Amino acid sequence: MKIQNYINGQYLPPVADEWIDNYCPANGEVYGQIPNSSTEDVENAYSAAKSAFPSWSQTTLEERSRILIKISELLEANLQRFAEAESKDNGKPISLAKAVDIPRAASNFRFFGNAITQFGSESHESVGQNAINYTLRQPIGVVGCISPWNLPLYLFTWKIAPAIAAGNCVVAKPSEVTPMTAYLLGEICTEAGLPNGVLNIVHGLGTTAGQAIVEHPDIKAISFTGGTATGAHIAKVAAPMFKKLSLELGGKNPNIIFADCDYNDMLGTTVRSSFANQGQICLCGSRIFVEASIYEKFKLDFVARVKALKVGHPSKAETNIGALVSKAHLEKVLNYIEIAKSEHGNILCGGNKLIIKDYKNGYYLEPTVIEVASNDCRVNQEEIFGPVVTIMPFETEDEVLKMANAVKYGLSATLWTNDLKRTMRMSNQLQAGIVWVNTWMMRDLRTPFGGIKASGVGREGGFEALRFFTEAKNVCIKY
Ligand code: NAD
Repeated sequence: MKIQNYINGQYLPPVADEWIDNYCPANGEVYGQIPNSSTEDVENAYSAAKSAFPSWSQTTLEERSRILIKISELLEANLQRFAEAESKDNGKPISLAKAVDIPRAASNFRFFGNAITQFGSESHESVGQNAINYTLRQPIGVVGCISPWNLPLYLFTWKIAPAIAAGNCVVAKPSEVTPMTAYLLGEICTEAGLPNGVLNIVHGLGTTAGQAIVEHPDIKAISFTGGTATGAHIAKVAAPMFKKLSLELGGKNPNIIFADCDYNDMLGTTVRSSFANQGQICLCGSRIFVEASIYEKFKLDFVARVKALKVGHPSKAETNIGALVSKAHLEKVLNYIEIAKSEHGNILCGGNKLIIKDYKNGYYLEPTVIEVASNDCRVNQEEIFGPVVTIMPFETEDEVLKMANAVKYGLSATLWTNDLKRTMRMSNQLQAGIVWVNTWMMRDLRTPFGGIKASGVGREGGFEALRFFTEAKNVCIKY
């Protein structure tokens, strides 16, 4: 199957008629092709967006809201179809796509459809000077949204929904590794009555199509989620043009477990926070630190639970862990397991590529737990982004806090304890944009989402996203 770009409400092939193979991670086979779009395709998408902007930016909030909520309803009505497509394209268990990815994509549209009706701006009375200031929050114009492969529709819509809710028109590019649900989204937007040109979806490589979006002089803001190195490159290109930038990048998140936690809750959630989506979530707790007094017990229980996880074809109901997203990514993760061995890491379970009957070319890997002796090793410092976690003991709160913060990243941190004062102390001092205490991945879409240090710049979520996708203009009136 050949998927196409969605420009000005039409499905179109790439101008140069060049295509890229699309692989199914579950069996390693090519199952379709996607446009290898060029600067010309991006230019066409930009022109459509530019033409749609005057009208869309003046469309009432009620009408924008109605359309966004309609998109959300149509996604829900097409849950099975979208979940199947996401699972086939990405390798994630269909159960996960059905329970998380697609419902969350629908929530993104519903949430921002509602949020825009509640979004206000400020006024400031200049007392004693007979003047009043009010702030306008105006849409930026044409904005670019670029997303990664791990949560394809979920993260794509997390950007698009606030951008269009705020009155912008969008040129968006999903990851070339997982383009399918973004392709299907075009259909739904048309059906929901989104005017032509408000959302344009261009498929292709980051270095060509993505780069063309970032380099475009009239695409005034870039919202990007992906790797830290790509984020740094995008910042370099966009900064001299003074584009607004939101960068959501990599992580190497600590999961800190104290002996006084609710052990069973912690254990179940830690299995999930380590291996959900094959460990390919930027928020996964990939460095597990356990208080020494319960370390041996934890090690035994955790490894037993991990060994019981079922790795299998993503479409099977009993599968806990599906396929990794690509051959190249599987090789990268396997290489980190070799690095761990060379650094004297102790592989407690997993560590091997799995050959699954009937799908022998699929990208399967055993969930892997590595015991490390120090936080300084490469597997504790570099983002692996696969079903691989490390564990190590700690003695004191100070020691674990230092280790938790001693990485270049600062996306999220998880803390397991029932000690209130310790919770407050550590939440204050952990270098992360998001701290979860006694839970993981619990999301309220109104809250700020994003990281510090090499995990990015800016925050998504709630009114933060609507602020990003608008320009503030102060008007001062003297009376
Ligand atoms: P990536 O950086 O390789 O690609 C992300 C997107 O950027 C893709 O659409 C790609 O085509 C595009 N791209 C690549 N080069 C580009 C360029 N020069 N100009 C413009 N666009 C370009 O990342 P990935 O491998 O798809 O995703 C995995 C990474 O994403 C991990 O590092 C992960 O931590 C990160 N991530 C972060 C968050 C977060 O919210 N912080 C969420 C999910 C994933």
